[in-house]
Amino acid sequence: MLSAATAAAAFGLDAGLAVVDAKPRRRTEDPERGFCRITVGEAEVIALYDGIWEKPHEAGFFSNASISDVKDALRAAGFNPAFVPIPISTYVVRLKGKTVLCDAGGGGQVQGYNSDSIFISGRMLDNLKAAGIRPQEIDTILISHFHPDHIFGLLREDSDAPVFPNAEIIVAAAEHKFWTDPALTSRLPPWRQSLARRIQSVIPSWKNVLPVEGEDEVVPGIRFVSAPGHTPGHTAFHLSSGPEQLMISGDTAYVPAFCLRHPEWHGAYDQDGPAAEVSRRKLLDRIVADRMLICGSHFPWPGFGRLVRDGAHYALDMLPA
Ligand SMILES: [Zn+2]
Repeated sequence: MLSAATAAAAFGLDAGLAVVDAKPRRRTEDPERGFCRITVGEAEVIALYDGIWEKPHEAGFFSNASISDVKDALRAAGFNPAFVPIPISTYVVRLKGKTVLCDAGGGGQVQGYNSDSIFISGRMLDNLKAAGIRPQEIDTILISHFHPDHIFGLLREDSDAPVFPNAEIIVAAAEHKFWTDPALTSRLPPWRQSLARRIQSVIPSWKNVLPVEGEDEVVPGIRFVSAPGHTPGHTAFHLSSGPEQLMISGDTAYVPAFCLRHPEWHGAYDQDGPAAEVSRRKLLDRIVADRMLICGSHFPWPGFGRLVRDGAHYALDMLPA
């Protein structure tokens, strides 16, 4: 990299001219407080900020929406349309003496993403501690799916050693089976192959991973809800305590500015777009009908809101941070 003065000399410029930095600059600040608590019946739910991906626009992000449609949707939701903001949050549920972490964030490890975009993750652990919870207190970790921004927080970057060796990790059997199939790697696009290799080099040897079938109650008060499409075994978590309910929706509604306003858009982030749309509409309709709270892994921080039907689409009334 050239310094401004050297560059100015090299290009024969006036040394007073600013030189444009080739590296993209981050535009989104971390929240002042990286944890946020709400109650759902007798449960305490704590959102933990993990980071943000400031994704550059690219054709093909949606198969049935253009870059200008995407920018319009961002503007309509009140965002700077210069980039696609994809924040990452994880959620802790404390109920009946159990402390349950829902997804583990990206662990500060970027893989398979465009190298000139800004991708911050791995703030979750510090924010967990700031919320007064020691990592050893986590009894159970529920995993919505095996994408890097949801599971790399389980792995130490240098050694792949488990960050939570004593927690039971529960995941849908369909998701576990898909990613641990040795024949999978060659069927994936090149940019996903290293993810499959990393999963296969660690997950099958961990004794604390429990794949489960169906939509059972996996910990007291939380049921798995099958929502395939984003990945083959993608799963939402339904928390219920007394009359109150929260759907921890994972990536079913991905970024609300797109998926709520345009549930029919098929994103490159969904492995099977049509199946993801069916799961999305089914889950969102249920949340509206039962007047549940919703949160999502990539909702605007801290991600809690009430969902309403708005004609052919949905709208989110966010709870304050
Ligand atoms: Zn995600």
